Amino acid sequence: MSSIAPHTKAKALKPGSRRPAKELCSECGLCDTYYIHYVKEACAFLNQQIKELEEIAHGYSRNLDNEDDWYFGVHQEMMAAKKKEPIEGAQWTGIVSSIACKMLTDGLVEGVVCVQNTKEDRFQPMPIIAKNPEEVLAARVNKPTLSPNLSILEQIEQSGMKRLLVIGVGCQIQALRAVEKELGLEKLYVLGTPCVDNVTREGLQKFLDTTSKSPDTVVHYEFMQDFRVHFKHEDGSTELVPFFGLKTNQLKDVFAPSCMSCFDYVNSLADLVVGYMGAEFGWQWLVVRNDTGREMLELVQEQIDTKPVISKGDRKQAVQQSIPAYDQGVTLPMWAAKLMGVVIEKIGPKGLEYARFSIDSHFTRNYLYVKRNHPEKLDDHVPEYAKKIVSQYQLPEK
Ligand code: FAD
Ligand code: SF4
Repeated sequence: MSSIAPHTKAKALKPGSRRPAKELCSECGLCDTYYIHYVKEACAFLNQQIKELEEIAHGYSRNLDNEDDWYFGVHQEMMAAKKKEPIEGAQWTGIVSSIACKMLTDGLVEGVVCVQNTKEDRFQPMPIIAKNPEEVLAARVNKPTLSPNLSILEQIEQSGMKRLLVIGVGCQIQALRAVEKELGLEKLYVLGTPCVDNVTREGLQKFLDTTSKSPDTVVHYEFMQDFRVHFKHEDGSTELVPFFGLKTNQLKDVFAPSCMSCFDYVNSLADLVVGYMGAEFGWQWLVVRNDTGREMLELVQEQIDTKPVISKGDRKQAVQQSIPAYDQGVTLPMWAAKLMGVVIEKIGPKGLEYARFSIDSHFTRNYLYVKRNHPEKLDDHVPEYAKKIVSQYQLPEK
């Protein structure tokens, strides 16, 4: 006897209507589909359940006695890698796109959930299910804006696909894992990227307008390990702006409230994570979480060079100093910011220690944000590993 899944009777919310997570909504896309039926359990901002979902996705959750696990989550292996022949126009060397293309051409999956941009606006995300490498490659490079990747979930069920790869950031993947068993798939592969400080499209414009000398020609940007924002422009030139020179007072409320209350920087529930911040400048950083992640990585082994991750320096003082500086919206004069950037680059944290620096600075800032703006959520919403990380620092009382 066939039974109708209960979620198919639910109704997606209309675009622009208020979402169940209210101002904390990261527009992950779940509520644009009938899977909104599961929102109370699945939404990363209504029901933080990373530990439970780690057990389902990886077979066990991170070990709270192991400091590497607090920071990087469940993992079998970490490494630095880069493509021997980088993909032109990718965010870094294009490892994410290469894995997705290979999975399609080898027939491991029938579709890949990824994000292209609209014709009118290179930064406006347009989630799709890519069915060939050309469509995957057209989705390369970050859309540094909140993206409703899960808005395609109904299409998956309706298309009858059984084997799927989803590329996404932490909040999207948490909701995806929570509804995974309802999707009717035989195999789901999850390729994640780290994510932090994301913004709405309007927020992005404000960031570009206040930070870049030529906001209209920016093609992509990244907060790099050399403590500078690298803006790449249409003509191929690169503009460098030191972190310490950012107009923090004007940018304080530019980041989405969801990202100010996120503690899943490293995408804990993906099978394989591809970022950059745990590797030296110019390299990407890979975290293999489970056997599925290893299978995905092996597909492109011949296309990449790899080397072990390193860890150098001591981040703790810099993080402690960044806490009041951010709170007070301190902006250094440009000459001092450049000087500080040069000094920190020479003696500052490198490799995994740089990743810890970035995680510590964001988690302390976000902990204070949740404590001040949503105190009733603090205890349940902040995972145990994040509480351990934050407890290493002295935070202002209020
Ligand atoms: P490419 O081959 O260029 O592929 C990029 C993939 O990202 C595409 O498949 C596309 O579908 C997907 N994508 C693009 N925009 C989005 C989006 N908004 N939401 C979901 N998926 C998207 N790494 C770090 O180590 N530290 C960070 O602080 C960090 N911050 C990030 C912030 C954002 C908003 C994003 C999207 C990524 C961030 N990353 C971060 C990951 C990093 O910038 C690269 O995306 C990653 O290293 C992959 O590079 P690549 O060249 O292999 O990707
Ligand atoms: Fe819905 Fe996703 Fe927003 Fe939560 S974050 S309210 S699941 S769209």
